Amino acid sequence: MTARATSDLSRIVETRALDAEAIAALNHQIHGQLLATSPNLGTANFTTIGSADLRCLFDQYDRLFFDGAIGANLDGAALNFRVSKRMTSAGGKTVRFVTRGRPDHTRYEISVSATLLFQCFNGDDHRPIFVSGVSCSNRLEALQRIVEHELVHVIEGMLWERSNCSATRFQSIASRFFGHRGNTHALITPREHAAVRFGIQPGVRVRFVLDGVRRVGFVNRVTRQASVLVVDARGSRFSDGQRYTTYYVPVEQLETIETDQPER
Ligand SMILES: [Zn+2]
Repeated sequence: MTARATSDLSRIVETRALDAEAIAALNHQIHGQLLATSPNLGTANFTTIGSADLRCLFDQYDRLFFDGAIGANLDGAALNFRVSKRMTSAGGKTVRFVTRGRPDHTRYEISVSATLLFQCFNGDDHRPIFVSGVSCSNRLEALQRIVEHELVHVIEGMLWERSNCSATRFQSIASRFFGHRGNTHALITPREHAAVRFGIQPGVRVRFVLDGVRRVGFVNRVTRQASVLVVDARGSRFSDGQRYTTYYVPVEQLETIETDQPER
C-alpha cells in the first residue's frame, strides 16, 4: 500500500457526505448490477450466494462510493470474502489479520451469514427486518446493508487499525456514506424464529421422533438446530445430577409439551 493511496482514502472518508437521494441511487445501481451479472443470485430473494458475489459487491461499493481508494490500499489478495453457514447470530463479521513487523502483510476477511439471510424473507417473517437501522424489503437489500457495515470496519482498520461499530467515528462514516441509523442488524435469528414460530426456547419440554424412536427431553440451546437433552443412564452427567444424551434436532421436528399435560 502506498502513502498516496492511504491519504486518498483518508480524505474521502473524512470529508465526503452523501445525501439520501444519492445513496439510494448508488444502491439501486449496485443492486441491479449484481443481479445482472451474478451467476448465483437470479432474484433479490436469492437462494444461493457465493463469495464471488461478495467480492463483486465490494468492488462496486469501492468504485462508486470511494473512487476505488479502498482497493488501492490493498495488495492483491489481502481481502477475502466468505459465505458462512455457521454464523447464527451475527449477519456479518470482519476480521483483520496482522503479521507482527510486517504491516504489508495485513489482510482482511469479510464473512456474511447465509443462514441469517436465508432465515428471513421467506414470506413468513413475523416482523419487519432492519439492518443497520435501515428497513430492508428483500435479501439483497439486507446483504447490501451488511456489506456496507463490514466495509466501514475494513476502512477503519486500514486508516486507524482499530475499528469499533459502537463508537462515534464508525457511526459517522456509516451514516455519511450509507445512511445507516444503527450499528446492529435485526435479522431474524434461528433462535428468534424458533421461539416465535414454534415456541421452542431453552427450558421448554419437547418430544420428537428420531430414527423411528420417540424421545422426550428439554431444549438446551437453539442455534441452527435445537440441542435437546434427553434423560439417559448412559449419557453424560449434568449439573442437576442427571445423565443426559444431547440430540441435535431441526426445530420444525420438535413438538412442545405443555408442562401440566401428561406425557404420552
Ligand atoms: Zn460491527
